[in-house]
Amino acid sequence: MVRKILLPVAILAAVIFFIIAVRKTGAPETSGFFPGGEAGLTVSTGAFDGGSLWATMAGLGRPAGEIAGLQKALSGAVNGRFPRAGDAYALALSTSGELAKFAVVSGEFLYELRKVENGGFLLSLSTLTLRSERETVSGTIESSLWESMAAKRVKPSVIIDFADIYSWEIDFLSEPRKGDRYSFVLETGLTPFGGAAFHKITAAVYSGEEAGEKYAYYYKDAYYRPDGKSLKRQFLRAPLVFRRISSYFNPKRYHPILRIFRPHNGIDYAAPSGTPVSAVADGTVSFAGVKGGYGKFIELRHGGTYTTCYGHLRSFARGIRSGKKVSQGEVIGYVGMTGLATGPHLDFSIKSGGRFVNFLKLSLPSASSLSGVELADFTEAIKPAEEALKKAGESPADRK
Ligand SMILES: [Zn+2]
Repeated sequence: MVRKILLPVAILAAVIFFIIAVRKTGAPETSGFFPGGEAGLTVSTGAFDGGSLWATMAGLGRPAGEIAGLQKALSGAVNGRFPRAGDAYALALSTSGELAKFAVVSGEFLYELRKVENGGFLLSLSTLTLRSERETVSGTIESSLWESMAAKRVKPSVIIDFADIYSWEIDFLSEPRKGDRYSFVLETGLTPFGGAAFHKITAAVYSGEEAGEKYAYYYKDAYYRPDGKSLKRQFLRAPLVFRRISSYFNPKRYHPILRIFRPHNGIDYAAPSGTPVSAVADGTVSFAGVKGGYGKFIELRHGGTYTTCYGHLRSFARGIRSGKKVSQGEVIGYVGMTGLATGPHLDFSIKSGGRFVNFLKLSLPSASSLSGVELADFTEAIKPAEEALKKAGESPADRK
């Protein structure tokens, strides 16, 4: 029904637009950056390359007073990183070369600044209508997840998102093996200017020799397995977290971590000195100091049953001391070789009721699971994504 009404409306809108466009013939095409109009102005566009607003504008030869005016007008409206690398901008100059208007597209917002009396600028902020685009990316591991995805031009933030989804199930620093396969469905929200306002992985599968076959579907702000169980668990899969490490080292030059399982008491992760070590679960620091052969050592208590231990640390993270509360994934220290160690590695172990247990075999329930009507809705909702992943798995034609 809705479609039958919408179509004539769309045609009517197109006709009206056409009439307006025809009536305007002769006028230069507008850039789209200035909803407030740009008649009589000369518009030029570009994109920020990671530099600040000040550096970019100064590079374009704009005078300091003008840039200060722009910054002042924007100061109350932006927080966090602004502008971000890749954000598009436009300048509209008057015939005398003065900056009459300035616009930035960042995320889903268009910031339009208009010159007013006394040399200042006035900001108007609008939300852009996004066009959603979906693609499926598949690949095979040669040496690491980063290497494989980067070779397919997957954005670093998407690679990290992928690893984050599985952070309770797969250790992407030590578990990937040559020949492992992955696929994921990526949804991108595109602005009318062609930039991406957001990315979201809506479905994923990783199939590995060591990691096993793991599916993940996005539903109501969280990721679930096909049976409706949340991927979230009490413990992360490893104390060395992909996201933390990629922001610390150059991921392209970072070699896979060697994991050595020590029967009876724990795991050694051979990793470069300085690699950030994360708490595998929410907890409280019960010890942070030097402990014999373990060197600099941290013990965390997680509720009444479990404690985790981290040894040979080079140093502790700021503020880590006995009694401090830590959250899952928080950096607590850095890999080193203090105590009895022949090379830099993390000595990691977990105890249950005071006795060492095998961390990798620990089977803990999911943080939550869908049931009833919600589970039925989920099962129905993921069908197209299941189909897309299945197709991606069947055709070895990788995106190049
Ligand atoms: Zn050790």
